Amino acid sequence: MGDRSDDRDDRQNYDTVYHDRKQSRAHERLCSGAFRTSPVESLYVECCEPSLDHRRRILTLHYYFKILSLPGHPFFNYKESQFILRLQRARPSVIPSFFTRASELLRNLNLEDLQVVPILKHHLTPWKSHGLRFLNPFKTFDKANTAPEVYQQLFADHRDVYHNFIPIFTDGSKSSPYTSFACVFSNSTLSFQIHSSSSIFTAEITAILHALSEISSGPPDNFIIYSDSLSALESMTSLHRFSHPLTFNILEFHDHLTCKGFSILFCWIPSHVGIPGNELADNLAKSATINLNSPVPVNDVKNYIKSILYSEWQAQWDRKDTIKLHSIKLLIDCWPSLPTRKLDTILTRLRIGHTRFTHRHLLLGEPAPLCTACHCQMTVLHILIECQQFKHQRIRCFHSSSITLKDILHKDPHPQLFTFLRMIGFYSLI
Ligand SMILES: [Zn+2]
Repeated sequence: MGDRSDDRDDRQNYDTVYHDRKQSRAHERLCSGAFRTSPVESLYVECCEPSLDHRRRILTLHYYFKILSLPGHPFFNYKESQFILRLQRARPSVIPSFFTRASELLRNLNLEDLQVVPILKHHLTPWKSHGLRFLNPFKTFDKANTAPEVYQQLFADHRDVYHNFIPIFTDGSKSSPYTSFACVFSNSTLSFQIHSSSSIFTAEITAILHALSEISSGPPDNFIIYSDSLSALESMTSLHRFSHPLTFNILEFHDHLTCKGFSILFCWIPSHVGIPGNELADNLAKSATINLNSPVPVNDVKNYIKSILYSEWQAQWDRKDTIKLHSIKLLIDCWPSLPTRKLDTILTRLRIGHTRFTHRHLLLGEPAPLCTACHCQMTVLHILIECQQFKHQRIRCFHSSSITLKDILHKDPHPQLFTFLRMIGFYSLI
């Protein structure tokens, strides 16, 4: 459009660009080939690189929770002294300590009460495989091509063989914002919510752990635990030092129960094929209401922090609808770059809407260039989409005279884009 408000935005953006966050901007501008006047928010989104402030917050919280997960860490039980807090309050201009900064971030994200699972050193002998085997009577069947009735019959046959093992069904569920799990025993059930930062994998493992904990209070017997999470069961078969921390708890619990005279088997079952115990566990997990304040594995916490800070960034970007790049890239995502540096630079500049031809005047303090045919300001939008001078070339290259910037500059740019730019003589001016 090239109206005055657009120009004012550019000037404002240019001013902020110049005075703010210079270092991070310079790095991203060099990498992407963006023009000097590009708005800093556009650079972050185009490169899919969070701002330094955003990154600092992620790293601070990751480090904070890492400390909490390592009982041997010198700062594991650290509490900031009142003296330091008073000193910081008296000198607000001095950068506060790491723990003060972290606690402020935790308060903002409502994560102050979050506990993490401690990572304990497990002495695993490298020449021996550690873990628990599980049964899979459905191994040879492909879920997409097997009718539920076949699975039900197979399960009935399996139960005939293992009739002297008491069945327990476990299931985990994750649907925003809740994560929960359930266990179904022969004459009772239990279901709990766990912290929303927990992954579905953690929910499945927690369910198995709770099933073991529940039977440990009763007399020794034969039990078989059914789970529909193949990944959870597989992770229990070969433990290594990076295994999920709760899988070690399962192994320990299992060994403890075996010593007490229990016999425990694990078995995989397919979900949503009408096996009653599994269906019940699934429904109970989805409707769980009681919150179990259990600690969360540090890796889940890290992923959660990353995802909430990314959502925050996306929300900030959603509000920046006057920025030119916004109409082309609504969702922050990594778009592939073109193999040729020159073409990639051109594409970046067109997407951001700041090119040498349209924005050099800001650097030189000159008036903005005007279109001689339409008497309006030259912008990327005007040149590529609106200007009637290039209607003929537009139809030849894009087979339409009514296209949008999104159509030709999106994730996969239009194959005729560069031909069009050369045809109208804009290519060498970008
Ligand atoms: Zn024009």
